[in-house]
Amino acid sequence: MTRRAHPTPARGRAARDLAPSIGRRAACATLAALALAASGCKRGGARCATCGMAIDPKSTWSATLVVGSERRPFDSPRCALVAWRSRGVAATSLIVHEFYGGDERDARELRFVSGSDVDGPMGHDLVPVAPEKAAKFMADHTGERVLTLDEITADVVQHLP
Ligand SMILES: [Zn+2]
Repeated sequence: MTRRAHPTPARGRAARDLAPSIGRRAACATLAALALAASGCKRGGARCATCGMAIDPKSTWSATLVVGSERRPFDSPRCALVAWRSRGVAATSLIVHEFYGGDERDARELRFVSGSDVDGPMGHDLVPVAPEKAAKFMADHTGERVLTLDEITADVVQHLP
């Protein structure tokens, strides 16, 4: 009358581990795929709001717009800048990865090179480089223009190659 015997481990495991869990996993995968197809947003399986491509969170091309207290991910600086400059997203700042170091930086601290031979996930991109590396990048990658964040207007993003 003191304590109940534990259920035998073999039975407990058999009941939990076989077919039902496989079924559940498959169902989860299906749900995740449906959720992505339906809208695609938020972290983990996020999609770029500009082009719809899946965002690889480990990619140094990924970029984040800060909109109030919200952080919106994009697959590339180009897509983030299209959203900000020509699609009316009221961002206050942009976080990108500096080309050489790969570290995340505020876009205001960097320069963006257009027309280079370095392609992002969407093809031609505005490549973020540290100001002191801009000349080297231009020489190595045949860039066309070096722009500050403020110089990247709606007109600039609409006329990228
Ligand atoms: Zn995109």
